[in-house]
Amino acid sequence: MQVRKGDQGLLRDHNRGLIVNLLRAVGPSSRADIARRTGLAPSALTRLVRELIREGLVVETGKRPSHGGRRATLIAFNPNFATTIGIKVEADRLLGARVDLEGRIEAREESSLPAPPSPSGVLERIIRLVDALQRGKTLGVGICISGSVDPLRGVDLYSPILGWRNVALQPPLEVKLGISVRVENDVNALTLAEHWYGAGRAFRNFVCLTVGEGIGAGVVINGELYRGTFGGAGEVGHITIDPDGPRCRCGERGCLEVFASDRFLAAEAGRLGFPDIPSLEKAARASVDGAQGAFARMGRYLGIGAKNLVNLLNPEAIVLGGERMESVDLFLPAFEDEVRNHSFPEAAKELKIIPAALGEDGFLIGAATLVSSEFFRLPTERIGT
Ligand SMILES: [Zn+2]
Repeated sequence: MQVRKGDQGLLRDHNRGLIVNLLRAVGPSSRADIARRTGLAPSALTRLVRELIREGLVVETGKRPSHGGRRATLIAFNPNFATTIGIKVEADRLLGARVDLEGRIEAREESSLPAPPSPSGVLERIIRLVDALQRGKTLGVGICISGSVDPLRGVDLYSPILGWRNVALQPPLEVKLGISVRVENDVNALTLAEHWYGAGRAFRNFVCLTVGEGIGAGVVINGELYRGTFGGAGEVGHITIDPDGPRCRCGERGCLEVFASDRFLAAEAGRLGFPDIPSLEKAARASVDGAQGAFARMGRYLGIGAKNLVNLLNPEAIVLGGERMESVDLFLPAFEDEVRNHSFPEAAKELKIIPAALGEDGFLIGAATLVSSEFFRLPTERIGT
């Protein structure tokens, strides 16, 4: 790093971040370990560690066992330094959680929403939920919501489940709560959670594909969530499979969602004489031909969508999530066959296909991570103290 006169403060912030992020990554370490790994001079390191301990961001955790000589004191990142609050806005309820700085949920709250949920009513309930969850130092509140979200301005651009267009969430909430607020699309939040704490930890390039009522995707490129121009990236449910196919809820025809979401399975269930998806699923598990075929077709179409992503992005992995994962065994073989055997061979060869690790909690953890990921990215002092 080039250091000009006047950049000393910036350098110090950078070095503090270096120490904190190293400890988060490798766990308890001695001062000598930290100096070796960061390249910081021992005197500077001692000073910065003392400062971080005083602020509570790192703690001394005891001594390393030794065979003779002085035992080194170990220093660790303190995940209880502060918490963040994650909120998921659903059609008829709010889910909230207080999350520590290692992505663990400490407490949960829930609040039902009136129908239809008005923006002012939802804002009011969010504030009450945050009040109920807040304990000690809170870095901020992350909110995830389905539909199109502009995360830079914190505006819900279009949310079909709520019937909202252009609802500003971040500005009024920051004024009322007095802490930072971030807003993001729900699948992007889930992807962030899987990237930081779940199945995507090992990858710098992956796609988190969710399947259920709709089909969504979050894309991580070079270790960063790819959001597109205004946050609209990842609408994989609406890539066209058949331009003359059935009408999709988005108004277009033959979108992937028409062929691979729960709506497809519900239609298949009806066509085959089953009352609903669970009965179709039960029949498929009992090896009823038609029922198995329905899941195989759904898996194949989902695979066609994923194959297009693989050819476009060449990811290391596809992380599969969403409510329909409860039937994953029924659609995975056809999905894998399509992705592995029909993507460009070089792209498919090393590709990993793995289930998401955090389940439904991923939405809340991801919403909270919108805030904590910024905390760890920026110089820690500016936000942390
Ligand atoms: Zn569509």
